Amino acid sequence: MSDRCVFCRIIRGETSSYKVYEDGRALAFLDINPSAPGHTLIIPKAHVARVEDLQEEDAISLFSALHRLVEPIQRAVEAPACTIGINNGPESGQEIPHVHVHVIPRSRGDHGGIIQGVTRTGRPQRHEIAETAAKIRELASPDVRPL
Ligand code: AMP
Ligand code: ZN
Repeated sequence: MSDRCVFCRIIRGETSSYKVYEDGRALAFLDINPSAPGHTLIIPKAHVARVEDLQEEDAISLFSALHRLVEPIQRAVEAPACTIGINNGPESGQEIPHVHVHVIPRSRGDHGGIIQGVTRTGRPQRHEIAETAAKIRELASPDVRPL
């Protein structure tokens, strides 16, 4: 918990929110400045800024809450689809340093974009893709970073 974090204040009930779900480790509420009707934020109750720093139990609970909420969110606003995303780190546009999953209902003709459009840093060649895959495999191996 952080005294200054707005999402921690929502968890503690010190700041009001349009809460839609709560369990022991996760909470969900409507975004106050929604990109679409039903735009929901799902957060861990632990004050952690980035996905990679979550305890595994919190990561599991967060995804479990997401899994439970996607359909009710879409049905509530009669949207056939949604975009699910996390801004992870300030360079990605994360403004509130407490992990939050955005669930943004989508419908045909809403003039929105796709997640693959968030950067325009150029396209790596095939051999560079292969090199990157090898690097990630090595760094993700249990010997390098225990899971
Ligand atoms: P991000 O850029 O991923 O950090 O997005 C933060 C999101 O939190 C924005 O979409 C804000 O509209 C939303 N937000 C900020 N303060 C509140 C609040 N008090 N209640 C609900 N949503 C909030
Ligand atoms: Zn917090």
